[in-house]
Amino acid sequence: MVDENRVVRIFENLVKIYSPSYRERTLADHIKGYVESLGFLAFEDEAGLAIGSDTGNVIITIPGIAEGPSILFVSHMDTVEPAKGVELVIEDGIIKTDGETILGADDKAGVAAMLELVSVLAGKSISHGPIHLIFTVAEEVGLEGAKNLDLSDKHIDFAYVLDSNGKIGNIVVSAPYQDSFVVEYRGRAAHAGLAPETGINAIAAASMAISCMKLGRIDEETTANVGVIEGGRAGNIVPDRARVIAESRSINPAKLEEQSDRMIDCFKRGAQEVGAEVSIQRYRPYEGYSLTENDEVVRRVIDAFDRLGVSHKLIRSGGGSDTNVFNAMGVNAVNLGMGAEYVHTTDEYIPIAELKNLASLLVELVKV
Ligand SMILES: [Zn+2]
Repeated sequence: MVDENRVVRIFENLVKIYSPSYRERTLADHIKGYVESLGFLAFEDEAGLAIGSDTGNVIITIPGIAEGPSILFVSHMDTVEPAKGVELVIEDGIIKTDGETILGADDKAGVAAMLELVSVLAGKSISHGPIHLIFTVAEEVGLEGAKNLDLSDKHIDFAYVLDSNGKIGNIVVSAPYQDSFVVEYRGRAAHAGLAPETGINAIAAASMAISCMKLGRIDEETTANVGVIEGGRAGNIVPDRARVIAESRSINPAKLEEQSDRMIDCFKRGAQEVGAEVSIQRYRPYEGYSLTENDEVVRRVIDAFDRLGVSHKLIRSGGGSDTNVFNAMGVNAVNLGMGAEYVHTTDEYIPIAELKNLASLLVELVKV
């Protein structure tokens, strides 16, 4: 079954490979080599070409040897920085780095557990239905690999994305829809001391817009933020340009619509107040999803945790992941805790016991 030493070795080899977003080549080749050495076929799609990565999504299909639902596992190959030259420190059953880099357990813990599953399957000791494994590219920069997947030739009953920080047992059953805004104000430049009345202050327009809107936590399902404001050239020039980048999120699509409309109203009102022009770009980086324990994809993972004696927790996330993209494609998917803490920081760590539990969970989910 799951071999703790083997999964730790797999994980160590993965985190030492530098794989920032759009440069996942070496890691993808390592993954393909690993599964091919065990007698399975690995396929790489064309997503890299579409998004400017040197690598496509790696897809492995393992035919069932028994009747059973078709299960998909997903993890992403890219990591955030700093990630070059990872030096591992293993102490008291915890894997971390020397503090100079991130660990990259986000999401190489997921990758390691999936490769350990392949090792177990190669031993032919368990009976399982069809299994798909997908290793995506460029997740950290906007779920780009997942958005360019073509699953039209695959039948998938249940999908598990291994990409939530925190404990094995965490099941992310809902994640928000998001709207993003890039807003440009155009006013008129003028000398601020000699002829301010001939100018139109674009920064004033932007600040009136921002002060008109409610931001932060709007309600228990909805949040909003202005994250960037820039513009202006010097203290003595009435600024003719200002740019605002903002977002709103909600688990409830109707509430998101309302919040986004209110923000757009404010953006327009700011321009009107000072007589500036405004252009507003609004786009949807990802759709949300919301499931309950009555959905079979959730039920199955709860049952697997029960059989393993691992306690579980249903979680609502405030962030997007590849899981959002799969649900939007019509594939029932949840995001699962993969055991790492303090992801995206140099304090990131993962307990070895969690790494082993994650691999055991995958084996438990595919058994029939
Ligand atoms: Zn991740």
